[in-house]
Amino acid sequence: MYELTEEKRKALTEFLGECWHDPIRRTFFEDGCYNEYYECTKCGVGAEGFSYTITTTLNRTFTTGNDMVALKEKLLETGKWHSFLISCINEWEEKNKYIDLEILEFTEWLLTPQRFAWLTSEFLKGEA
Ligand SMILES: [Zn+2]
Repeated sequence: MYELTEEKRKALTEFLGECWHDPIRRTFFEDGCYNEYYECTKCGVGAEGFSYTITTTLNRTFTTGNDMVALKEKLLETGKWHSFLISCINEWEEKNKYIDLEILEFTEWLLTPQRFAWLTSEFLKGEA
């Protein structure tokens, strides 16, 4: 549940108006040996790393507080905040219909970076 697939992370990144980096391996010769790094084919941003982690290294994971705040700011900026919150309340009530939780707990439930990102992704998908 609330799994952030690469497809979801890519869509959320594009919602933020940022590049979903598509890294390509580059090598260079320095101090007598070959070194490698990865460079985005779209915007040119680069990073060192390993091929199997570089996409995660370069792109947002949407599992951090900073990512969550970026999504919240974008939802506000695009005028989608209120309908997003309503969709979250609906999701929360659906998941908790047999549990007597106070509505105040909703905020704690909502403000979990990965869940927040997943909910934003589902909300945007429902809008499309
Ligand atoms: Zn890029």
